[in-house]
Amino acid sequence: MVNILSGFAAVAAISVIGVRADLKNRTDYPDGLSGPFGPGYSENTEAHIQWFSQWGDGWIPQGCKDRFLGKGYNATDAQVFNVKYADCGRAWTFCRHKDAQLSIEDMADSFGRMSVHMRSLVRHPIALPSSSGCSALAYTNIGDIVMIGNCKGITVWVHETGHQLDARLNPSKRFSGTDPWLEALELDTCVPDSYANTNTVEDFAQVVVVAQFNTLLGSIPEEAFPGCLDHRHSLLEDTFRSDYLEYIGHCNNRPADSEIVLMETTTREMKMIRRAKVQEDNDPSVVGPCTFS
Ligand SMILES: [Zn+2]
Repeated sequence: MVNILSGFAAVAAISVIGVRADLKNRTDYPDGLSGPFGPGYSENTEAHIQWFSQWGDGWIPQGCKDRFLGKGYNATDAQVFNVKYADCGRAWTFCRHKDAQLSIEDMADSFGRMSVHMRSLVRHPIALPSSSGCSALAYTNIGDIVMIGNCKGITVWVHETGHQLDARLNPSKRFSGTDPWLEALELDTCVPDSYANTNTVEDFAQVVVVAQFNTLLGSIPEEAFPGCLDHRHSLLEDTFRSDYLEYIGHCNNRPADSEIVLMETTTREMKMIRRAKVQEDNDPSVVGPCTFS
């Protein structure tokens, strides 16, 4: 009976989010990716921040307002910043809750350590508070990423941006759902870590962390099962290395910033939000919450 029920649950999960779970029974990095990959990323990247400036009170990008309200926070508790990096003429607009564990300096630094092409997949980086740990969300149809709690690790930022790379604003055509990816997954014998076993979308984002690291440093940390994810890793790097993973280039093809609106929430908006919140929980373009140890 238990098996029948869990079978139904598995079928339901596949039909709703179109992905498979429990992909492999071996993990290449049994303790997660932040330990083995974090130091290499930190030591070999730098955020070239030219300046950041805080917006005046009362105004916020619509995308930030939606994310705040969608998670039950007042948009009036948001701090909005423009962050300008040396390698892109246009600043990014970041939003953080006043009680978020990440400071604007933390956010600008972690985001800025990614390649300019990876950053260009993101519309608004957003930080919200949490009583413990770090989880994160990627809104893959619009390019927003939301860090909840203490998410300083660069691997977390690469992972969330990896979800944007997977979808490239078109979640119905995720690369992780294509035949070449699924065939490579079939040939491989492991997942990067236990979190990657959640489903093919999470697995893809963790392989992005591996492939981005290899592009940057030319090798990856010692594997528990050498070569066990080479098919996916090679395919990902062959497909996306020159356009996204290399630390060169310009910030072309960035999503447009969202409209600037008032922070104050109207009664009409509150009603719309309640509806939107229910929809968001069932929206396959919203990936997460991704949880990290
Ligand atoms: Zn994820």
